[in-house]
Amino acid sequence: MRILVVEDDPSISVPLAEGLRREGFEVEVAPTGAAALAAQPVDIVLLDLGLPDLEGNVVCQRMRARSAVPIIVVTARGEEIDRVVLLELGADDYVVKPFGLRELVARIRAVLRRTAGAAPGAAVVGEVVVGPLCIDPRTRAVTLDGAAIALTPKEYDLLLFLAADPGAVRGRDELIREVWDEHWWGSTKTLDVHVASLRKKLRPELIETVRSVGYRIVDLSAVEQ
Ligand code: CA
Repeated sequence: MRILVVEDDPSISVPLAEGLRREGFEVEVAPTGAAALAAQPVDIVLLDLGLPDLEGNVVCQRMRARSAVPIIVVTARGEEIDRVVLLELGADDYVVKPFGLRELVARIRAVLRRTAGAAPGAAVVGEVVVGPLCIDPRTRAVTLDGAAIALTPKEYDLLLFLAADPGAVRGRDELIREVWDEHWWGSTKTLDVHVASLRKKLRPELIETVRSVGYRIVDLSAVEQ
């Protein structure tokens, strides 16, 4: 398992890299945002937001734009964290400094589990078709009426989870548990942000709100008739 540690402070990155190697990870350290963006592909990224050259947010966004690699963001204690913004940038989880190695390794393993085998819809084989909506889990391609729609990884996961069982109402807690990681998720606002974004990118009527329960996907061809 290869991990990229993006951290400018050697008093953190050196012992951290040693600890992670002892845990069996292959570790590469990038001391700047530019070095992080130039690094070879890895299995997971640990990204300090306070970098000397580029804003951590920008690095996160650029990494996410070109790869689905899991990203755990590291923030300093007391730093204002907008979880919704982090998710919008494509981060999978975050840890706050100072953190223990054991806690961090547990988080890393949880994120890797979630993004690999346990990804929502991982069991779905073949195309998922709900009226004009078509999802191909092998390529993660989404089309609506034949037009390709670009989604973020989480938007895709959420859409596939809803579409895998058309008509079924999915509860808010269930969606957050399956699509995100419940242990760091204090607010369910993120779910609404992602639903709103899917509605905007696809069609507003595609995802129906079931009041005080959750959401369900709607077969638009049935609605139109
Ligand atoms: Ca730093």
